[in-house]
Amino acid sequence: MNRVYNFNPGPAALPLEVLQQGQQDFVEYPSYGMSLMEMSHRSKAVEQLNEETQELLIQVLDLPKDYHVLFMGGGASTQFALTAMNFLKSGRVGSYILTGSFSEKAYAEAQTIGHVNIVASSKEHQWRILPQIKTLPLASHTAYVHMTTNNTIEGSQFHEIPDTEQIPLIGDMTSDILSRRMDWTRFAMFYAAAQKNLGPAGVTAVMIRDDLLRECNEHIPAVFKYTTYVQHKSLYNTPPVHSIYMMKLVLQWVMRQGGIAALEEQNERKAGLLYEAIDASHGFYQGIVDPSARSVMNVTWRMEDEHIAKRFVQEAERSGFAGLAGHRSVGGLRASIYNAVPLEACKALAAFMWDFQQRNG
Ligand SMILES: *Cc1c(COP(=O)(O)O)cnc(C)c1O
Repeated sequence: MNRVYNFNPGPAALPLEVLQQGQQDFVEYPSYGMSLMEMSHRSKAVEQLNEETQELLIQVLDLPKDYHVLFMGGGASTQFALTAMNFLKSGRVGSYILTGSFSEKAYAEAQTIGHVNIVASSKEHQWRILPQIKTLPLASHTAYVHMTTNNTIEGSQFHEIPDTEQIPLIGDMTSDILSRRMDWTRFAMFYAAAQKNLGPAGVTAVMIRDDLLRECNEHIPAVFKYTTYVQHKSLYNTPPVHSIYMMKLVLQWVMRQGGIAALEEQNERKAGLLYEAIDASHGFYQGIVDPSARSVMNVTWRMEDEHIAKRFVQEAERSGFAGLAGHRSVGGLRASIYNAVPLEACKALAAFMWDFQQRNG
């Protein structure tokens, strides 16, 4: 086998054992004589898989009974539009915390639907810090507050959650769900496209609480309504069965690792190794984000000289490290170290960074 250390930002690394089990069941789903992908989504097998995977996610997150787990299509970007379509009624305002390009995209989509405002932003600081969110200037007619808990492209992550009191808080957790313990109940809704920490692309998990569900706009097409997915247990139309199956394997893998708490500890060690390499380099590697806002999932840095940065990526690739170029919109370098990236990969990268600096610093 010739698998590289995979630091891709998303779609991203999957646990090897998950891939291998998926491969085993690919052609013939145990005892059904055909692949899952060849089955009706109305079959017992798919119905069961769908329900089991939702229950597993509830279990791993330890969610209270008033939350529903929905599986939807269209990725996180579709949620940018759907949150506004469902909850942004006339006379109300959708309030956005802007901390990077994904939160800006969410804001821009909502703008096409209704009235929105920005209640905190770090744009003028080029997203290098996170804005103060302890007290937000929220109007009484606020429909919801939307935030991105981890900024995948910029490499920042909130370590606190705003207290929005009676106003529903909605979180895009695509790039840090299952990576750390969090008080989920502070969010009336949170969502994550699968391709970072949950599985392959194709399915988006939406966790939504009963009280917010009651606020859904009933005058939009059924396929866009959260209530439709609750009523049909996410089998309103044909779901991405294979992606859901892979998510189930990932969730079982998470449980075998010791759940979110164990992963959190591991993730902190992983990120610690890379931030240490950056901080110990005396400016050869320059962290992009202020240390107080650093992400444990996406480590971003720059190098003084662009040519050396380019060489870094090329040499890294030749040495078996994939996916280290920064997002095309910000440049620099980025190591995405989601749950499935092993500690050993981060140790190897930290050693490579040290070695590269010795030769080029
Ligand atoms: C990757 C990502 C997205 C975009 O997800 P799509 O499934 O491609 O729409 C949105 N938000 C965050 C935080 C992400 O990391």
